[in-house]
Amino acid sequence: MMKNFNLLSAVILLAALFAGSAGFAGSAEARVRVVTTTQDLAAIAEAIGGDDVKVESLTPGTRDPHYAVAKPSMIRRVFRADLLILIGADMEIGWLPPLLQSARNSKVLPGNPGFMDMSRFVQLLGVQSGPVSRALGDVHAKGNPHYWLDPRNGLRMARAIAARLGEIDPDNAAAYQNRFAAFARTMEIKLPQWQAALASLKGQPVIAYHKSFDYLADIFGFRIVDEVEPKPGIAPSAATLGALIQRIRREQISLLIMEPYYERRSARYLNEKTGLRAAVLPQSVGAEKSITTYFDLFDGITAAFKAAQAPQEDQ
Ligand SMILES: [Zn+2]
Repeated sequence: MMKNFNLLSAVILLAALFAGSAGFAGSAEARVRVVTTTQDLAAIAEAIGGDDVKVESLTPGTRDPHYAVAKPSMIRRVFRADLLILIGADMEIGWLPPLLQSARNSKVLPGNPGFMDMSRFVQLLGVQSGPVSRALGDVHAKGNPHYWLDPRNGLRMARAIAARLGEIDPDNAAAYQNRFAAFARTMEIKLPQWQAALASLKGQPVIAYHKSFDYLADIFGFRIVDEVEPKPGIAPSAATLGALIQRIRREQISLLIMEPYYERRSARYLNEKTGLRAAVLPQSVGAEKSITTYFDLFDGITAAFKAAQAPQEDQ
């Protein structure tokens, strides 16, 4: 599989070289080309970059970012990028390194200003002490990479992106700072609204499908007491589900939260056995068509919680 990828990428790279050189020669546009690994990062970069940047995400918010497949179109984007922004903490370990290698763009390699690993600007939860191992399929070996689900981290990311864009494109540094100030003002208004809307979650025990909502729990005050996946990235067995059913009954847990891209069989089974309701939360910008900004994301999450908590007649 790697061999095929490299062969294909070599062909595409040649095509990209021609397309790229023509593009640079013919274009008077000075916009900074930003490539992000996820749509959440793209949304924040767009909010900060405005008309001074052109932002493209390598993956759509409808997919599980742990498992993207490197495609030729993605190599082209990285090849042309001035700035690459990634989640880090091994989120993209399965697909970004070969992409970077094929794209041969030194600007966006680690250590250069065009490479931005956002995990370095936030405090990661779930960092393991001792040697890091991906044994047993654990996809969070370097700490929990789902940190964009805490709006406070969104603010940290926006601040860091504004500073970096200002370094790469000093002529527009003031504009980046102004847009960051606007982003921060919106956050100041929105965050208390989301917290008020989800106040009833405070202290509630919740089960998560994947270990991705710890940051959300942290900001909105609910407790994640267990996961459906026995380890991040590992599907539940019948025995896992059996133990969960015992726990749900014992501790009277009433809510499961999960991303739209996970299988729903386990959720249905747990619902049949215990009445546990599932809130399918949009986990990223782009998870639903209406979610196009970072602020939309938490509006969507709030709405999904509300829908799951509403009285349901047919259950
Ligand atoms: Zn994960």
